Amino acid sequence: MPGMPEFQRQIPEGDTRERLVCATCGHIDYQNPRVVVGSVVAHDGRVLLCRRAIEPRRGFWTLPAGFLELGETPEEGAAREAWEEARVRLAFDGLLGVFSIARIGQVQLIFRARFADPAAPSYAAGPESAEVGLFAWDRIPWAEIAFPSVHWALAAWHAGAAAPLGAPVGNPAGHAAPFSGSRPPPAAPN
Ligand SMILES: [Zn+2]
Repeated sequence: MPGMPEFQRQIPEGDTRERLVCATCGHIDYQNPRVVVGSVVAHDGRVLLCRRAIEPRRGFWTLPAGFLELGETPEEGAAREAWEEARVRLAFDGLLGVFSIARIGQVQLIFRARFADPAAPSYAAGPESAEVGLFAWDRIPWAEIAFPSVHWALAAWHAGAAAPLGAPVGNPAGHAAPFSGSRPPPAAPN
């Protein structure tokens, strides 16, 4: 079929991995992890959660988060997702966590955030949410949380909720991600 690229799996010169390479023009279709950006939005000791109206994990609760788009900074992406999913305008404290979900090729940047107008915090379900709410810690629907990294981000928020942000946390022990978060990479071999 003319004009349709025909990709073949091969290791390009100087590379170490198989890539999809166009047989006609040599274009290499690099496939790399994707960046997810999201926020723990807190107000008066409560955190904002969205009940998903879409798959995956429809009906379960999550943070406002989604894939970073080309042309966005991580904060811009997180602000856009918060508006799309929860109709919230955000102000950011900083980066709360960096989580690596290597199994599905994701790096997640989770910010700690507040309502841009704390005197008039407003939120509502956007098109991808069935419901949005502010939850006190002991009212969080733990059995209905959509993804493990939502647990991790909420735990990181809870551990230092009122304090200035330190270095971002990484994956918890047992959820391998040797280079994420505040942990330094291992020393280079000699
Ligand atoms: Zn081509």
